Amino acid sequence: MLDLTYEAPKAKVIAGATGDWELVIGMEVHAQVATKAKLFSGASTEFGAEPNANVAFVDAGMPGMLPVINEGCIAQAVRTGLGIKAQINLRSAFDRKNYFYPDLPQGYQISQLFHPIVGEGEVTVEMGNGTARRVRIERIHLEQDAGKSIHDMDPHMSFVDLNRTGVALMEIVSRPDIRGPEEAAAYVVKLRQILRYLGTCDGNMQNGNLRADVNVSVCRPGDYEKFAATGDFGHLGTRCEIKNMNSMRFIQMAIDYEARRQIAILEDGGKVDQETRLYDPDKNETRSMRSKEEAHDYRYFPDPDLMPLEIEQAWVDDIASSLPELPDAKKARFMSAFGLTDYDASVLTAEVENAHYFEEVAQGRDGKTAANWVINELFGRLRKEGHDIDDCPVSPAQLGGIIDLIAKGEISGKIAKDLFEIVFTEGGDPAAIVETRGMKQVTDTSAIEAAVEQVIAENPAQVEKAKQNPKLAGWFVGQVMKLTGGKANPAAVNEIVAQKLGL
Ligand code: ADP
Ligand code: MG
Repeated sequence: MLDLTYEAPKAKVIAGATGDWELVIGMEVHAQVATKAKLFSGASTEFGAEPNANVAFVDAGMPGMLPVINEGCIAQAVRTGLGIKAQINLRSAFDRKNYFYPDLPQGYQISQLFHPIVGEGEVTVEMGNGTARRVRIERIHLEQDAGKSIHDMDPHMSFVDLNRTGVALMEIVSRPDIRGPEEAAAYVVKLRQILRYLGTCDGNMQNGNLRADVNVSVCRPGDYEKFAATGDFGHLGTRCEIKNMNSMRFIQMAIDYEARRQIAILEDGGKVDQETRLYDPDKNETRSMRSKEEAHDYRYFPDPDLMPLEIEQAWVDDIASSLPELPDAKKARFMSAFGLTDYDASVLTAEVENAHYFEEVAQGRDGKTAANWVINELFGRLRKEGHDIDDCPVSPAQLGGIIDLIAKGEISGKIAKDLFEIVFTEGGDPAAIVETRGMKQVTDTSAIEAAVEQVIAENPAQVEKAKQNPKLAGWFVGQVMKLTGGKANPAAVNEIVAQKLGL
């Protein structure tokens, strides 16, 4: 396992005129469940379909339609719960949360208020230098997503697209254990990473498949610890909830703005109203959306169309036994098995596809060399082209082949970079390319000797200087490399130059 020092949460402190303030943050992350069909209908969840192409009668709220639970969604929620070491509730239940909204034709959202499928768990958030924080998870429940109203297609009418209506979401609710903007972003990064490793959510924030509601309050130093000890966060500062954040950068900016807004109110002797706010990235401010006074009475009640959900421990155990290696474990293994630094292992395990790619390259080769090639050459080149590892033109076997040629002394490091470029742009088998294009390193000493002698013969003045100042031997090495098209074995060149110059 990773060797981490768990730290007590360290709050971001903002100095006010009346003294210091600390931040308290809790998150509700909505993660779209990776499944083909919706939570209670067989309609497709595919992104980018024609508006209203993926709408079953159930999603459209047609009278008399009965929801039927999608077993795949339950399995994904259980998998997610197991991935964050949470309690799995063998009995859970669905409730109706009643409200009217044009993109919710049923007139209610089916959710799990009273008996969620997943109970308490935790997420380890690394904060650099081998330190970590534990963010406790309160629950994960399954619920339906709503559709989308479209207001900018016509000056007089609004449209609605119900493709998203009824798609399964996992709402992952944290305790208010997060104490600063960076930690909040790091928490979402880690959660997203775990979900993607588990394959339970694709984590695409741009498409809205992962979005966070961020609850922010401020308190005086020491207050948090007082309440944390009893678990009673209700008496901490009044919180505001910033809805639907889908960028790590905006999450941080919104928290910072919101904390300062609350501090200004409190220092003025005012009271923070508990309300839901929206962040406007153009103006970098949060604005009130609805206040507690106007808060809906959702009249939650158990959905009479759905039986309580009962699952068996054996089924849960089955899912548990099929969990993949998760990010922390993979990172620890990369460090110990391949001798990687903490930093390299973090980079290589950030995205699961990258980790798989690296591991194929490193298998049976020097891990550090493989890591250097993957991180510096390959990732650098992919970034330049705007490519992902998914559409990487170089396979792990090809990159491994290049590394093997260096290890065998067949090509120099410099030639290897040229070879990589050829494989990246034209494809092909690295060994065959080296053969047909005559890129092999010259280790034949007589050929190198001839080149060295030629350079010495053509540069008598330089020879004299080098005899006074042995550092100038490097110049001869450079000339010989140029003469041999970079193919001479550098160690051999160094040796022969020194010998011929009598250094
Ligand atoms: P509600 O019952 O109103 O939904 P919860 O107690 O379930 O409230 O909390 C909702 C979210 O708000 C959780 O993520 C929780 O961590 C967070 N939260 C609760 N109290 C605070 C607080 N004082 N400051 C910041 N966030 C908080
Ligand atoms: Mg709640």
